[in-house]
Amino acid sequence: MTEYKTIETVTKINIPISTKCDICKKEITGKYWRLTRYHNDWGNDSTDFYKVFDLCSRECINKALDDYINSCKESFTQRFELEQEETE
Ligand SMILES: [Zn+2]
Repeated sequence: MTEYKTIETVTKINIPISTKCDICKKEITGKYWRLTRYHNDWGNDSTDFYKVFDLCSRECINKALDDYINSCKESFTQRFELEQEETE
């Protein structure tokens, strides 16, 4: 038989305190877009290339997509995901 006692533990978690647009650097409140870019090419740069952008507007989404496409011209496995998020 195993006996147990109750102990108290403390867990630390990260919670968002502010969100800024990665393109225009404006503080975001309310709804915004999260763009995740990556590719599935061979090699280590697929890890380095993975990046998440928080974006405030369609203009900033377009700018981020332009940057993504221009920086990955030689890849045939480019991927991106666009999700709508909301600040706390
Ligand atoms: Zn922006």
